[in-house]
Amino acid sequence: MRKKIIAGNWKMNTDLNSGLELAKNVSQKVDEFAFNSDEFGMIVSPPFTHIHAIGNVLSSKIGLSSQNVAEWSNGAYTGEISAQMVKSIGANYAILGHSERRSYFGEDNQVLFTKLKLTLENNLTPIFCIGEVLEEREENKQFDVVKSQIDEVLFKLDVVDFKKVIIAYEPVWAIGTGKTASPEQAQEIHAYIRKIVADKFGANVADNTTVLYGGSCKPSNADGLFSQPDIDGGLIGGAALNADDFVQLLKQLVANK
Ligand code: PEP
Repeated sequence: MRKKIIAGNWKMNTDLNSGLELAKNVSQKVDEFAFNSDEFGMIVSPPFTHIHAIGNVLSSKIGLSSQNVAEWSNGAYTGEISAQMVKSIGANYAILGHSERRSYFGEDNQVLFTKLKLTLENNLTPIFCIGEVLEEREENKQFDVVKSQIDEVLFKLDVVDFKKVIIAYEPVWAIGTGKTASPEQAQEIHAYIRKIVADKFGANVADNTTVLYGGSCKPSNADGLFSQPDIDGGLIGGAALNADDFVQLLKQLVANK
């Protein structure tokens, strides 16, 4: 059965010392909490600069992710960081296609497919973000938007590689805004995502695909979201910067599944 996950995206927050402190606090709290780690997982995604050092203090129950990888494998791309580099410093996951990357850095489906392939080639598990912006939601285009984001990137993979991907549905209007999708709105899209995966790769693959929700998820609204049948956990921004809230979200996920 698919894994249920709480993943934290720290974005461009913390310096090395405060990042280490946060990782240690989260680790301590996670180690004190007994849960089935075959069924549930936790991932942190610090800035590139912290990944190696955090890997040395992180609980073995917590996975380590980058927030991005370069679209090239190596070479003269000043300032870029490749999937291979990320893997070599201890990360096992990479967030791809976050809406901030799509909107501020112009990452389109073509670029994201290249990044996805490099991520998989380097044995990193992709956490692939999709989701509509507010105007698209207001025009009831959310289904078409997520379908094309999936069709043009994830469905270009063969089934063996597709099965390695974690999907994160993040309505852009809910990210960092304090506005959360209602549990019903989120469930509706998650069920739709699972349906199009089933249409493409079959019901068994769809049943085993982890689909996270992201967008202002925090302990006060998580029960409603995590109790939905097609929501397999969360990609968490703001609340991942507070160790108590972040680990509390894992506890709520376990309690609701
Ligand atoms: C995110 O950036 O992936 C996110 C979900 O942020 P927040 O939880 O702060 O809305």
